[in-house]
Amino acid sequence: CGIVGYIGKRDVAPLLLEGLQRLEYRGYDSAGVVITSPKATGLKMVKAKGRVRDLEARVPKRFTGTTGIAHTRWATHGAPSDENAHPHLDAAGKVAVVHNGIIDNASELRAKLTAEGVEFLSETDTEVITHLIARADAEKLEDRVREALRHIEGTYGIAVLHADFNDRIVVARNGSPVVLGIGEKEMFVASDVAALVSHTRQVVTLDDGEMATIKADDYRTYTTEGSRTTASPTTVEWEA
Ligand code: GLU
Repeated sequence: CGIVGYIGKRDVAPLLLEGLQRLEYRGYDSAGVVITSPKATGLKMVKAKGRVRDLEARVPKRFTGTTGIAHTRWATHGAPSDENAHPHLDAAGKVAVVHNGIIDNASELRAKLTAEGVEFLSETDTEVITHLIARADAEKLEDRVREALRHIEGTYGIAVLHADFNDRIVVARNGSPVVLGIGEKEMFVASDVAALVSHTRQVVTLDDGEMATIKADDYRTYTTEGSRTTASPTTVEWEA
């Protein structure tokens, strides 16, 4: 339902929680956040059924980082619960995915992955994306995400964080909005400009079939086939 992400220098958890709060008007049943930082070796995640403030109450004291993605969920596959809340991690805890939309072939993919020995931790359609990325055979994170998306039928706006590629967030759009927010040595991503206009008015809106990589000081957009696209930021007008 709602996605917000950040990469930069600031303490990321409060930023992401604030972003989620700005998406509350859309309605949701659970929420979650995963963070890391350039020096970290892994990902830290918190999820909760209920409101953003229920999530906030669970965030431990030392939940520090400078990169992260967060989500408010409106359940389509699997009941509202802590486990079904996004992000979804792979077994190694390295790949984290948040997703808006519906994966139409999720049950086929789940059956196939299960037969190959993958253990699912949730009932969501989204979790197949995580495992497909974790199993993709490519060097670059972008290529792993691209390979995973080749198997997916349905709608998605996704944001991906990977413990081994923690200088970036990779996003993709097909039928569910994704916007980039361009800052000064910091970048934002969201499903709705409402989550980022308090930080920047410079916005790049992805098209369907488009992906992007954001780093703290750089972003690039390309198609799911891998060719570069030109996406210049536009300035959004916003009445607070
Ligand atoms: N289909 C996904 C789920 O049920 C995402 C729902 C959403 O867009 O929030 O978990």
